[in-house]
Amino acid sequence: MASFDKDKDMGCVYLVGAGPGDPGLLTIKGRDLLASADVIVYDYLASTSLLDLCRENAELIYVGKQGGDHTMSQDRINELMIDKARQGNQVLRLKGGDPYVFGRGAEEAERLVEAGIEFEIVPGVTSAVAAPAYAGIPLTHRKYASSVCFVTGHEDAGKSESVHNWQALAHSSSTLVFFMGVKNLDWIRNNLIQAGMSKTTPAALVQWGTTCNQKSLAGSLETIADLAQDHSLRPPALLIVGEVIRLKETLNWFEKLPLLGKGIVVTRAREQASSLKALLEEVGGCCYQFPTIEIEPLDDTSPIHNAIKRLQDYDWLVFTSVNGVRYFWKELHLLGLDSRNIGPCWVAAIGPATAEALRNKGIEPDFVPRKYVAEEIVQGIKKIGVEGRSILIPRAEKAREILPQELKKAGALVKVLPVYRTILAGKDSHFLNQALEKKDIHCITFTSSSTVENFFQLIEPEHLRPHTFDQVKLACIGPITARTLEQFGFQADIVPNSYTIPDLVQAIVKEQSNNTKRSDK
Ligand code: SAH
Repeated sequence: MASFDKDKDMGCVYLVGAGPGDPGLLTIKGRDLLASADVIVYDYLASTSLLDLCRENAELIYVGKQGGDHTMSQDRINELMIDKARQGNQVLRLKGGDPYVFGRGAEEAERLVEAGIEFEIVPGVTSAVAAPAYAGIPLTHRKYASSVCFVTGHEDAGKSESVHNWQALAHSSSTLVFFMGVKNLDWIRNNLIQAGMSKTTPAALVQWGTTCNQKSLAGSLETIADLAQDHSLRPPALLIVGEVIRLKETLNWFEKLPLLGKGIVVTRAREQASSLKALLEEVGGCCYQFPTIEIEPLDDTSPIHNAIKRLQDYDWLVFTSVNGVRYFWKELHLLGLDSRNIGPCWVAAIGPATAEALRNKGIEPDFVPRKYVAEEIVQGIKKIGVEGRSILIPRAEKAREILPQELKKAGALVKVLPVYRTILAGKDSHFLNQALEKKDIHCITFTSSSTVENFFQLIEPEHLRPHTFDQVKLACIGPITARTLEQFGFQADIVPNSYTIPDLVQAIVKEQSNNTKRSDK
């Protein structure tokens, strides 16, 4: 982001609202500042995926404020921001929701003023607005409520004097939103009823609002505390009181998402995971990134350079993966060349994602098979005629041999050109084993045979086996991957008819909704 160059020796502190949990609810200004800040000081509630937006060498400092657990005292946090700013850093203080809504943001800003540090406030979407909205509760409505009141529920219930004017709250006809109130539900309810609010006033709780773990329940002022206990509802949650809750059933869109609350493991390489992760999250899934593969450039790129210099010798260029496209073009650019050097070569892509990667390079593929496996591409290219043709296949160092073999059988002159390498990712598997034990995982996705092979190098098949019958479904992108899974003694529960990422996600959704219907019976 273009920014006015402030005093160079003295840094600046940005108090930025991280939004309520859904990372998509961060503001554009917040995102731009995250991408440029030197130091990020963040809380427990801020969605950790926001940290992926930071620049590579940013210093990340967790000051974890969760309920009573303060990893760092408020004074220490203030001093830390001041020190970092005085050293000339752009400091970004990331706070859950909005920094000025029950976030002690104002106290932090006051301290900065005292210390003579420049600061800016970037408001965030407060959970008080977003969590009810994601649970089907509008805060105002012409028929039900014309004002809103944000109230802290964090008070010592044993105190004789409350900070609140309960009479005013009970008679305001405002929608009341209580923060930090789960522990004090009984106390809040009693105060409102004693002050004259009807026991039958609708009340609702929203836990982990706007995240894939959102849960909400609705009842009345009288029943809500018992409901919370029955459903083991814990912080962070908001209590909402008011007639607007009558709309909850009608307007509850988010909790209808088919994969809401379902833990889904993504085993693809981190660089490749984003499209699968985004699609799963769109339908409510809680993604567990467990990359089993890392993609690396090759040490010796001279064979790639030689092939590129002799592109005019080839009739066909066949790409079998997005990475193949990415690494081939990387070397093309390093040689000072670009897509024009493909010249009159025909170009084939094994699937729609690879085809899209080619289009992004300005190349419209001449051939994309109807089914996305090597066998189909062979049939397709054969039809066009390969006998005597020279075919270059830029791909991973280790890959299935079927495509080059079949093309050779059909009379083509085939050159396989490794342009990248996949290696086993050194991911710590402890967190995944733990999530399996806690029954947080509902599905594991495999998008290639190597994800299966590497997965079982990181997780013992015998650890997975007891979870697979009812709880954890295994989803494979296609039949070849499913066959590899069989070699480890597991049957794929989900294989889409078409072997693409969107089809895989659709197949998972279908399986999970059948599963829900079965368990509802
Ligand atoms: N500044 C924050 C509030 C901080 S106080 C904001 O604007 O949202 C912390 C309290 O906020 C929690 O105890 C809980 O009551 C509420 N809260 C924060 N995030 C929440 C979420 N995603 N779902 C429900 N309540 C949330």
